Amino acid sequence: MRLILLGAPGAGKGTVAKLLTKLDGSVQISTGDILRGAVQAGTELGKKAEAFMKAGDLVPDELIMGIMEQRLQEPDCAKGFLLDGFPRTIPQAEALKGLLTKLAIDLDAAVDIDVPREVILDRLTTRRTCSNPSCQAIYNVKSNPPRVAGVCDRCGSPVIQRDDETEEAISKRLDTYNEKTAPLVDYYRKEGLLMSVATTSSDDVVNAVKQKIGL
Ligand code: ADP
Repeated sequence: MRLILLGAPGAGKGTVAKLLTKLDGSVQISTGDILRGAVQAGTELGKKAEAFMKAGDLVPDELIMGIMEQRLQEPDCAKGFLLDGFPRTIPQAEALKGLLTKLAIDLDAAVDIDVPREVILDRLTTRRTCSNPSCQAIYNVKSNPPRVAGVCDRCGSPVIQRDDETEEAISKRLDTYNEKTAPLVDYYRKEGLLMSVATTSSDDVVNAVKQKIGL
């Protein structure tokens, strides 16, 4: 399948993407994970992105498009992909449209996961992430803590609160989302690709997608 996942930070895009990859071998492409990996590895990309990310601001469109142009041409995308956290702005959506036309790739849908703001705020302040760049497993101190506090179940690395998950940065990320990313819902409606799912259950989203693309 070839999908864009839309929705505020904390709406569950990453969780849904991981469930969907199991259905047909599509890969999850998370620009946030790619950027955090680059910051930890200290690459040029990471150095350019770090300050924007820490403040809860978006990384400039040119950097993101450079990453995506390469990533979408890697062989593992042949079975499909789930774009998680990209596009985030109208210019990114337009650039993506051009890129997909160039690569002769059609999208199945842009899925908007619509979750109430109170739920989002609660999820983000209680979210914890594995600090190992190649793992980045997600936990929640209330609903899904690691078996040993502060230690990743999967790889044993420390589980931490992300720099951009302080209350101040979270509120900034939600404002940025409303201003820059929420307009994509209308954009994809006009493109005839929008599928909206209002739920706090990742399984509901997965079932709606399965139905839509006939899996
Ligand atoms: P979220 O939980 O906010 O969806 P992500 O892991 O997707 O978090 O992104 C973390 C940060 O990485 C964002 O706040 C932003 O600074 C940067 N980022 C990720 N994807 C993009 C993108 N497509 N365009 C611009 N910045 C991005």
